[in-house]
Amino acid sequence: MNWITKIIKAGEKIKSAIHKRATKEDIANSDWTSCCKGPILKKDLAENLWVCPEPDCNKHHRIKPKQRFDIFFGKNNYEIFKTPIPKDDPLNWTDSKSYKDRLKTARKKTGLDCGMMVVSGTINNIKITAVASDFDFLGASMAAAEGEAFLYGIQHAIENQTPFLCISAGGGMRMMESLISLSQMTRTTLAINELKKNNLPYLVCLTDPTAGGITASYAMLGDIHIAEPGALIAFAGARVIRGTVKEELPDGFQKSEYVEKTGFVDLIVERKDLSEKIGTLLSILLKKNSVISTEQNETTKNTQSLSKVAS
Ligand SMILES: [Zn+2]
Repeated sequence: MNWITKIIKAGEKIKSAIHKRATKEDIANSDWTSCCKGPILKKDLAENLWVCPEPDCNKHHRIKPKQRFDIFFGKNNYEIFKTPIPKDDPLNWTDSKSYKDRLKTARKKTGLDCGMMVVSGTINNIKITAVASDFDFLGASMAAAEGEAFLYGIQHAIENQTPFLCISAGGGMRMMESLISLSQMTRTTLAINELKKNNLPYLVCLTDPTAGGITASYAMLGDIHIAEPGALIAFAGARVIRGTVKEELPDGFQKSEYVEKTGFVDLIVERKDLSEKIGTLLSILLKKNSVISTEQNETTKNTQSLSKVAS
């Protein structure tokens, strides 16, 4: 090797070291993440419930089910259920990687057996059964195992006569399970009907992103639809719609604020207020809030005494 080759090789090494791109793992293991103003310490973001502290931004970052329930019910103040897991990879699917390997990686990454976590906790002295999805588990897509988890949650709600809260997220149905995953749209819809036959409230909190078959089934069947600010809520993607209608789409298309205006979402609630707001809504729906029931009792008493006077 002559001196010119040595210099070129050394130059290449320096260049590749400078231009080395961080891998997904590097980013996941780093203490830093980024938002509107550039890098931000994950610790600082976590203290603000994973919401950007910049008032103009207020981005509600995606969080895992455990982080969400820690915020919602209080740290570890809830019970996590083990839900049935059907046979892996029923269609023996392989694309660029085998589905079995993808499942193995997702489980290792999230520590979950499937993309949906089912828990039971208490808000405002009201027992609630709740489910939330993990976007890191294959994009929180819905397949047989997630369907089982959802049904388990509904069954628990009916058996224990609790309201049911679904904190939705996910890109849709999981293509690796084809029709089996699509059938979860019907199964979850039928399960919600059973919940409603039992007169139990079904609340949905839509988080970023809720899309595809998830929006077309259980995420849009709530008695009340709440959304976190700025969440993407859609069926088909904006690019597909733009290509189909051949028109420019309005600003903020498919974001919570836009979807609220078009009537699919009832109210937008910041993450820090979710627990309190849902507690109040459930108190009203279940007539368990003392203030409301006192007012109601007084109204009833007044009406009764008025009718006595009239008679
Ligand atoms: Zn920001």
